[in-house]
Amino acid sequence: MFNNLSEKLDKALHVLKGHGSITEVNVAETLKEVRRALLDADVNFKIAKDFTVRVKEKALGQNVLTTLQPGQLMVKIVKDELTELMGGDAEGLNLSGNPSVILMSGLQGSGKTTFSGKLANYLKTKKTKKPLLVACDVYRPAAVDQLHVVGEQIGVEVYSDKGNTDPVAIAQAGIAHAKANGFNVVIIDTAGRLAVDEVMMTEISNIHKAIQPQETLFVVDSMTGQDAVNTAKAFNDVLNFDGVILTKLDGDTRGGAAITIKSVVNKPIKFIGTGEKMEAIDVFYPSRMADRILGMGDVVSLVERAQEQYDEVEARKLQKKIAKNQFGFDDFLKQIQQIKKMGNMKDLIGMIPGAGKMMKDVDIDDDAFKGIEAIIYSMTPAERSNPSLINASRKKRIGKGSGTSVQEVNQLLKQFNQMSKMMKMMQGGKGKAMMQAMKG
Ligand code: GDP
Repeated sequence: MFNNLSEKLDKALHVLKGHGSITEVNVAETLKEVRRALLDADVNFKIAKDFTVRVKEKALGQNVLTTLQPGQLMVKIVKDELTELMGGDAEGLNLSGNPSVILMSGLQGSGKTTFSGKLANYLKTKKTKKPLLVACDVYRPAAVDQLHVVGEQIGVEVYSDKGNTDPVAIAQAGIAHAKANGFNVVIIDTAGRLAVDEVMMTEISNIHKAIQPQETLFVVDSMTGQDAVNTAKAFNDVLNFDGVILTKLDGDTRGGAAITIKSVVNKPIKFIGTGEKMEAIDVFYPSRMADRILGMGDVVSLVERAQEQYDEVEARKLQKKIAKNQFGFDDFLKQIQQIKKMGNMKDLIGMIPGAGKMMKDVDIDDDAFKGIEAIIYSMTPAERSNPSLINASRKKRIGKGSGTSVQEVNQLLKQFNQMSKMMKMMQGGKGKAMMQAMKG
């Protein structure tokens, strides 16, 4: 996420390292680079300029009042300004109605349908709500089918009426269906087009007026940079929406949209989409995002994600197994699957302070575990629970079955042995205290 921008800002802020104080001269040099970094990230010219002016004023003003090194002070000021620019505090959804109605708007391909599904899934699992999805795209039957597929995937009902060509009527019927059947949130997915046009705007505006949603969300593809900001403006003029959803932040987004949108439409970014999977949704926290942009990682989100996947009962079972030396490959597989559920690997690594920068050239993909999984799947249940059974001929068979080599099987077995030993060690003496501390 935002690798380029992070790198350039890091370089710009590095200029001040080694300087005893912030002066008109070195601050100007640094800020020229900061501005260039922002422009390269597709931040609007005026916003980039105002940003650096504010940072400069603060830097020169606070210079004498602080014991921070100039470099640290500058990082802090840039962080605060970035946070402010992206929205200050995180803002949640208004779910006060019964049902609460959420209207999704945005261009075709922005990720509306995917996000509708993600949001339904999020509300269902995190907020114990009972959401209903409503398909209001009357032009593309495939879009309606897509929402049904998504609904099935997450176990959320989808209301649609394929013969009906009136999106307002479908939206109203969907809400009536929700009321009659005990759904407390209705998420309405609407038709988008490839570019802003009259007909689409009139249609979404009619739906908006007719159903008066508690939340109108504008979904935008962050990869489109300044275009994202312009589209946001057009939709906001018509809908006066409540919040922005930035999708596709997992890709090579330059970051301009995330930094600029709030100050242009004066509406908060509420969620971000970080992948195609239904779990790839995050609440948008401006300050955490600023940390990530500045390469400081985002430990809070990382811990939250880990906690979401943390299952107390399973963890206790696992601890017992380790103590009894019964930790096998099935348990290992379960651990891998839990890690995978936390999100895409590159994204997770980016949350570790400093690691994103260190690993930027390392090619980490989500298939990183594929080979390991294939090897484990090729073992018999007996071999999985008792890896010492795996002799030379079994290794050959496992290699063949998993499409890997005997060396790779050996390597995994070796790593597994080391890991088991370490776990065993952690169970006794110091380790116990450490585990206790980690559990908090
Ligand atoms: P809609 O036309 O606005 O409903 O857009 P879709 O929901 O159909 O999404 C368009 C494409 O973008 C699909 O291929 C999605 O899988 C993909 N997509 C949506 N959100 C994300 C995201 O956060 N990250 C990535 N990488 N792809 C996404």
